[in-house]
Amino acid sequence: MISILQACCSTRLSPSWVSVGIVFALSAASCGETRRDHQLDFYALGTEISISLFGVSDVQATRAADSLQSMFADVGHNWYPWRPGELQAINESLAEVRLPIDVSPRLATVIRRAAEIEILSIGRFNAGLGHLTELWGLHDVTNPPSALPDPAEIEARIRGGVGTELLDWDGDRIVGGRTFLLIDLGGIAKGAILEDSVQILRELGVNHAIVNIGGDLTVLGNVNGRPANIGIRSPVAEKPLASLDVAGGETVVTSGNYERYVEIDGQRYNHILDPQSGYPVEHTASVTVVHEDAMLTDAASTTLMVGGAKEFDALTDAMDIEFALLIDSSGDLRLTESMVERLHWLQD
Ligand code: ADP
Ligand code: MG
Repeated sequence: MISILQACCSTRLSPSWVSVGIVFALSAASCGETRRDHQLDFYALGTEISISLFGVSDVQATRAADSLQSMFADVGHNWYPWRPGELQAINESLAEVRLPIDVSPRLATVIRRAAEIEILSIGRFNAGLGHLTELWGLHDVTNPPSALPDPAEIEARIRGGVGTELLDWDGDRIVGGRTFLLIDLGGIAKGAILEDSVQILRELGVNHAIVNIGGDLTVLGNVNGRPANIGIRSPVAEKPLASLDVAGGETVVTSGNYERYVEIDGQRYNHILDPQSGYPVEHTASVTVVHEDAMLTDAASTTLMVGGAKEFDALTDAMDIEFALLIDSSGDLRLTESMVERLHWLQD
């Protein structure tokens, strides 16, 4: 259920900070008759969704709640490979080499974008590695495997490449290519959903909003005339590490090794996998990326996790990422030059 918590028209983001993700509070002031700030909070896609609408009518807020709720429910089924829905059906058809496969236009766009990013990322991003996700039990962390996957099985899963870039398309139809893959859009879907949320809000005439999916967010317009001030979570502390002003149209995504993991034999294995080795990434603690292309932002945060400090410069260049921060597992930082200028440090 979506609850609409109404705040007031001169609401502003109080200094924003981060616990699990990026949390912001709305402070109240006097309200006008028709336009005010609304807060929509609900749970979807296994995470907290928090949507702040600034200066909208009650009707707009109610419509936004309805449309967003139904979009989130739809993608929750149809873009998730381990629940009955379109992506699961596509993966079954690929496994049985039942071609051609008709894909709905939006999902086709997201898969093809993932394929482009696989190429841009020199293979660090790979949306075809769902078999590996399964092997490590990362698709169902409540039911972890009792032992580590067999290295021979890992090798078999990655042998010959598993990327969505190896699929052949005719329009929105998969017509061929290498079909030994299981499409897992976990590294890019949130970016696409942020994009779709903003599109829905725009169509409803909402000009100023923040859409926050479990700490990854897009800003639309501004917050009562000011840019949104967003905290960047620390991979190790509850307090935010730094903050930055985020302009309308920008997306901020943080990937971390602490977010989702399985425990096998008392050892944690996080949910970001190196497609080359087939093993979870251990060298990077977290990555934050800011960019105007939400899908690229999401996929780039996953890519940079895989590439680590060693490939940070090469990958930010290759993907044209101007603003990025990487924290490696020993706490050392890597930043792009432009990110250095943007961040306000809140901790030593
Ligand atoms: P989160 O969604 O938790 O914020 P990411 O955006 O980094 O984190 O996405 C991680 C998810 O992406 C994993 O749960 C898995 O579904 C998928 N994934 C894991 N490794 C990769 C990879 N190297 N390339 C693309 N997707 C990946
Ligand atoms: Mg990502």
